[in-house]
Amino acid sequence: MKLHLGHLYPEFLNLYGDRGNVLILCRRAQWRGIQVEVTPISLGDKLVPGAYDLLFLGGGPDQEQGIASADLVAKGPWLKEAVEEGTALLAICGGYQLLGEYYRTASGETLPGVGLFAVYTEAGNKRLKGNIAIQVPELGSEHPVIGFENHSGRTFLKGSRPLGQVIYGDGNNGADGTEGARYRNAIGTYLHGPLLSKNPHLADYLLRLALRRRYGEVELSPLDDTLEMATNTAVYKRFLPTRGK
Ligand code: GLN
Repeated sequence: MKLHLGHLYPEFLNLYGDRGNVLILCRRAQWRGIQVEVTPISLGDKLVPGAYDLLFLGGGPDQEQGIASADLVAKGPWLKEAVEEGTALLAICGGYQLLGEYYRTASGETLPGVGLFAVYTEAGNKRLKGNIAIQVPELGSEHPVIGFENHSGRTFLKGSRPLGQVIYGDGNNGADGTEGARYRNAIGTYLHGPLLSKNPHLADYLLRLALRRRYGEVELSPLDDTLEMATNTAVYKRFLPTRGK
């Protein structure tokens, strides 16, 4: 089996080591004997329909989001078509915001979005930052998804389903208890980390979604994630008392 991964704007959107998520996906696939080809996709690059099983978009400061935004909107129809056809996608923070309807920055500029997720984002005065844990229904209740967040944007769902519910932290907007967005096999989230090194269960879930398009339901052989899951639990428990604060 082979996985084609498209990495959008790796040179602009790579806040807090978001690129690490691509490394995790590659390595966890390769450990199962699955080949991975990673293609950087940036400003002005042509997009080949149906070429990718998985797309990744990292986070970024407002300025870098401004550089990527118009180009991303131009790529929007292709990107939406890919997701409609089953391509999996992971977008973090600034990348997630640009896949919504728009992002209004703290300086009052409105960056248009792709509209893949039925959400919109507006900057608030205080940054929402700190450790975060969420419950993602598809991953069961045993292990939450953990990470950290640092954003001024408040995202509001306009019909989109959230990725999960906040256990502690702020999530989409610090008010309604939702975190991220989900549409078909596309996931948008505020969790940096890199997210997938702290959450191997989410990494494998994404790999299965990505492989499904061309290979159907794929059974991934188990890896020894004892250390990662023990760390996940320890971090989760450490910050649990801050819940609701
Ligand atoms: N610039 C955006 C915000 O502050 C996104 C930041 C990020 O990707 N961490 O909301």
